[in-house]
Amino acid sequence: MLNPAATARRAIPSVDRLLKLDPAGVLIAEYGRPLVVETIRAVLDEQRALLNSDGAASLDEDSLLATCSARLRAATSASLKPVFNLTGTVLHTNLGRALLPRAAVEAAVTAMTRAVNLEYDLDGGARGERDSHVEAWLKRLTGAAAALVVNNNAAAVYLALNTLALRREVVVSRGELIEIGGAFRIPDIMARAGCRLREVGTTNRTHAKDYTGAINARTAAIMKVHASNYAIQGFTASVPETELAAIARAHELPFIVDLGSGTLVDLERYGLPHEPTPRETIANGADVVTFSGDKLLGGPQCGLIVGNAALIAKIRKNPMKRALRVDKVTLAALEATLRLYADPERVARELPTLRLLTRAQVEIEAQARRVLPAIAAAVARCADAQIIACASQIGSGALPVDALPSAGIALTPRAKRRGTAAAAIADAFRALPVPVIGRVKDGAFILDLRCLDDEAGFIAQLARLKVRENLDAKTPRRKEEH
Ligand SMILES: *Cc1c(COP(=O)(O)O)cnc(C)c1O
Repeated sequence: MLNPAATARRAIPSVDRLLKLDPAGVLIAEYGRPLVVETIRAVLDEQRALLNSDGAASLDEDSLLATCSARLRAATSASLKPVFNLTGTVLHTNLGRALLPRAAVEAAVTAMTRAVNLEYDLDGGARGERDSHVEAWLKRLTGAAAALVVNNNAAAVYLALNTLALRREVVVSRGELIEIGGAFRIPDIMARAGCRLREVGTTNRTHAKDYTGAINARTAAIMKVHASNYAIQGFTASVPETELAAIARAHELPFIVDLGSGTLVDLERYGLPHEPTPRETIANGADVVTFSGDKLLGGPQCGLIVGNAALIAKIRKNPMKRALRVDKVTLAALEATLRLYADPERVARELPTLRLLTRAQVEIEAQARRVLPAIAAAVARCADAQIIACASQIGSGALPVDALPSAGIALTPRAKRRGTAAAAIADAFRALPVPVIGRVKDGAFILDLRCLDDEAGFIAQLARLKVRENLDAKTPRRKEEH
């Protein structure tokens, strides 16, 4: 006589048996045979293990295949997917920074799906230069004599330093030895670029004589790094770019400026705080300026290096340029983005980054009134929803001190442990089909509506919001499959 567990084990259907059933055929058509076989095998193994540990196993063929179906759907759903960025940070590095203008998207699709003259000179029918597609625009928009493009601004800084200061010293103020988002630190990038960092001055004050006193036979460059994600206030002194440029020129050294964000337009024109532009920095005498393509510029991820023609030519010849170059898709998107800047009216309308940054508080507030009823209804059981004034950040290190007046919705839980309860509400919003990312602050979950574009899509999915039952319980339970 077999014991009951052994009997049950025998009753578990075989992989082949399940594969022959109609629902399995549907799964194979959708996901391909190998994935389906693998999933069925895994699910059956689990049932067997359950039986061996005296657990209750499901032996019903339909429900086994339903489990497989749910698992396959989860395993094959896109990992990189759209979310609603309601964090209040417009250029959020973790949420992909700039949203590209329509023109850039179309140019990128063309480059992805057609052969293009990436490195092909159509006039001469000979080999061309990939950066040529954007160099004229960058020269025009920054006043620089030459320009090149690499993978991101970190690569731009690396390549400039590695080319111009390999095994030599670079003079930088101690007030500018910045770290950006953990992985990018000026001292580290300098070491990897093969340069010796020559720190001068103090955290809050650096003077011209600090720079001149540090220059010696091993000095290769003077560098200035834009304090992009912090501000030093109070008793401070730094040396203006014009003066640093003069010092560099007097010692026949290149003057390199890492602007970080760098915007191609005068932001004050759009009612935003001033942010240095590459054009100003070049006019102030910088020889090489580096900045990002996907921060305030509002284009694809890339790093731009503009400046003196001889130095840019040298940087272009660095063998590492090949390792750090951008692809045709990025170039196409960048070219289309730069073209928008030819017309300041058009760029404000068509560049999402600028449009989001310049949204008026009254307009965002009106939107908050429109979406409030749906949000309030979705959390009615556990929290109160109210419209609040809040402050958005530009993000990605730009304009660290200035905040943009905005409006949003605060969800205040009625549970006793408000912090945990607010976090549980945040979890529920993140679990929506298009995850909604807000922030938890002072025991409330805050949604800043500055970047809410698809209002209808946002409202439509709120009916599916499921906040867990006991908001006072400490640890949230793990999400179930299915
Ligand atoms: C953001 C930033 C960088 C890095 O730029 P990525 O495009 O993210 O590589 C470097 N320097 C400064 C000053 C920055 O603000």
